[in-house]
Amino acid sequence: MASLKPPSKTHFPESYHGQAVAFAREQFNVGEVDMTEWHFMAFLEYCLTRPVQYYENGRRREAPIRNGLPEVVNYLGAYYRLQGAEPPFSGRLRRFAEELAATFGHAPRTALAASPDDVRDFVSSLSSRPLDLRTKAAILSLFASWRRPSEVLWLDYPQCLRAEYEAGISLIIPGSKTNPRSRPQPLRHTKDERVCPVCAIKTWLEYLGAGYVGPLFPVLRKGNPQPKSLDVANFDKTIEMLARRTGRPPHSYSSYSFRRGAATTAAELDWELETIQKQLWHERPAQSLHYIAPRAYWRRSRKILP
Ligand SMILES: [Zn+2]
Repeated sequence: MASLKPPSKTHFPESYHGQAVAFAREQFNVGEVDMTEWHFMAFLEYCLTRPVQYYENGRRREAPIRNGLPEVVNYLGAYYRLQGAEPPFSGRLRRFAEELAATFGHAPRTALAASPDDVRDFVSSLSSRPLDLRTKAAILSLFASWRRPSEVLWLDYPQCLRAEYEAGISLIIPGSKTNPRSRPQPLRHTKDERVCPVCAIKTWLEYLGAGYVGPLFPVLRKGNPQPKSLDVANFDKTIEMLARRTGRPPHSYSSYSFRRGAATTAAELDWELETIQKQLWHERPAQSLHYIAPRAYWRRSRKILP
C-alpha cells in the first residue's frame, strides 16, 4: 500500500474515508460494507506506524497526521453523515485516537517490536563483564515478562523476587498508577539457556553476591553496585548501542522494544487479542493494539481483531 496521503483541503472526509477503505481491503480483504470499528482502529494505528510522506512539486514532505488523529475520526464521521449513514464506530474510536495522539504525539515513540532473533543477537553480542551481565538480565527479564521498562528496571532486591530457581522465579511488581496492585510476574526457564531470563538473573545475582540488598539493576561504578537503579534513558542508550553493534538501525530500538516485541511475537503465534491484553495488564484491548506491530495483525487480522 502506498504511504498515506494528506487529504486535499476541500475533500478531507472523502480522502480519509477512501484511504481507510483501501487499507481495509488490502490488509484485511474486507469491503466497505463489512468494515467494523476495529478496521478503523487498525487504520489509525497504520497512520502512526507508516512513514507519512508525500511528494509535492517533486519534494518529499511529511504529512501532519500524527497529531491529528482525533480530527481524522471527525472527518470519517463527517463522511458518513454526508452519506446519511450511521458511522460504523462509537465514542470508543475517538478515545482510541486521542489516546494514540497522547501516547505518540509529543515524542514519537518509534521503538520497533524486538523479535526473538533480535533478542538473541543482542544478548549474544554481550560479554561476561558485570555491565553486560546486568544488561543481559534486564533484556531477558523485559522480554519474558512483557513489563514496562520502568516496572522492571526500578525493582528492589530482595523484595522483588520469589525464587525457586529450579521451577523458575517470580518478579514482584509493585503497584503504580498504571498497575494499581502489586502482583507477581512468573518467569520460567527457556530451553536455550543462552536466552533464559531465570538463568540470566541468577548469574547476575551471583555477581552481586550473597547478602546483597539494593536495586535489582543498580548503577555500577568500577563494577561496584551503587544504591541507585539504572535509569530508563540510560538503558535506552544501551539498547541503541546493541542495535548498532548488531547491524540494525539504532534509533529504531529502545527499552520498549521488548514489551512490544513480546506482544507482537504472541500475535504472530496466533494468540487472541484478549490473552495478549491480559498479559500486558491492560484494561481494554484497544490499548494492547499499540504493542502489536502492524506486521503481525495485518497478517492475522481475523484472529487478532475481534
Ligand atoms: Zn534457565
